[in-house]
Amino acid sequence: MYAETVPIIDPERIETILGNAGEPAPARVREILAKAGEMRGISCEDAAVLSAVRDPELSSELFETARRVKEKIYGKRLVIFAPLYISNLCGNECLYCAFRASNPEVVRRALTQEEIARETEILVDQGHKRILLVAGESYPREGFDYVLKSIATVYGVKSGRGNVRRVNVNIAPLTSEEFSRLKKAGIGTYQLFQETYHPETYRRMHVGGKKRDYGWRITAVDRAMEAGIDDVGIGVLFGLNSWRWEVQALLQHIRHLEERYGVGPHTISVPRLEPATGSDIASHPPYPVDDDDFRRIVAILRLTVPYTGIIMSTRETPKMRRETFALGVSQISAGSRTDPGGYAETGEREEVAQFSLGDHRPLDEVIRDVAGMGYVPSFCTGCYRLGRTGKDFMDLARPGDIRMHCDPNAASTFLEYLEDYAGPETRKVGLECMKGFLGGMSPAARERTEAMLRKVEAGERDVYC
Ligand code: SAM
Ligand code: SF4
Repeated sequence: MYAETVPIIDPERIETILGNAGEPAPARVREILAKAGEMRGISCEDAAVLSAVRDPELSSELFETARRVKEKIYGKRLVIFAPLYISNLCGNECLYCAFRASNPEVVRRALTQEEIARETEILVDQGHKRILLVAGESYPREGFDYVLKSIATVYGVKSGRGNVRRVNVNIAPLTSEEFSRLKKAGIGTYQLFQETYHPETYRRMHVGGKKRDYGWRITAVDRAMEAGIDDVGIGVLFGLNSWRWEVQALLQHIRHLEERYGVGPHTISVPRLEPATGSDIASHPPYPVDDDDFRRIVAILRLTVPYTGIIMSTRETPKMRRETFALGVSQISAGSRTDPGGYAETGEREEVAQFSLGDHRPLDEVIRDVAGMGYVPSFCTGCYRLGRTGKDFMDLARPGDIRMHCDPNAASTFLEYLEDYAGPETRKVGLECMKGFLGGMSPAARERTEAMLRKVEAGERDVYC
């Protein structure tokens, strides 16, 4: 296989690029920001220069440029999803994770299909349409079939007028044959974080199980792509190694995918290490990323790969989530639990959870907050169901044409939420937000959107273009 023989990350080049960035001159930074403002992305070298900026004035110019690019490309839409943890069984020894095999403090549990259906029903009844299915790297007796059955279970649940329309998955690397089966199961995005691209750090953090194999993990998205899963998500677990180094490596990974498959990842995730039961490293990250640097990471990624979605999870606090929406985040989870069975069995359950959350608010409260800030929460799953994935999606996204689908779909799915699930206060705030959203559209876009909204008002569901 191609990817097994070609090095994806070049650590020496990263060191050179970071070394050359030095203390960047203001004129050089402004030149890069001007280029970034044209929304065609910037080079790894330019991103390294931006990551070296410390000067407060230049920093605010960096943030301002990221805000402008985010607003221009994504407007006010914010995609909403919920994770669904089906199992915390795991054969690996990742030192930062509560699910690691030898952690005696976690009670092990793989949900039955009935329990998965129950969890799904609860999420559907809250208004969710997009689920991220998550599991540790060890499955009950039926092996990988357990994952496939679970996906079918999630898609099979209907409750009231709702159902899950897109299942994304975050599970351990698979073989090519398994990826083909995953594709057939109808998943949206396959998501996998390298955690750290730094080989030595990777070796120290992963001390047992299959995950020790750096090469098997970094080539996983190649196998996924080659099996036809062309929406892939990648990410770094920030806090394990220097963030500047990891951002460079992430960019190299993206360039590799672009060169090889003509399209980069669909999304990038930026998890920061959070405390986890039984993990010392999780509470004391070797390279802690403070809030200021975290905002820089989001802003720099937004400018470097303007059309790639950036996902922010509930690991972060409501305040940090709000700040990063403006800087570049395009998708957020909401109302999340990281303990298998946690939607049905509520309450603090540290003994089964993967890590602590920074945002514990229920979905309705998050929606109210987001809409109150003028963002339109989108439950859209249109692209994936119309086959607009991978390169087809990017070909529409780059010239800005995807907006003619995203905006109406965001509006129609948000109206569905407001009609079927929102509390009275959220409904009020949401309808006000919708007015502003429609008001900002061109007359033609507004007309098309209003036609879709009328269908939703008339009781039709799953209206998309
Ligand atoms: N077990 C699979 C794997 O490791 O790829 C997939 C699911 S794992 C539960 C999902 C992600 O959780 C990991 O890739 C890792 O980045 C993240 N994670 C693990 N421990 C964490 C912690 N203490 N804080 C924040 N994120 C963590
Ligand atoms: Fe297992 Fe994934 Fe946690 Fe590692 S990060 S211990 S592989 S669940």
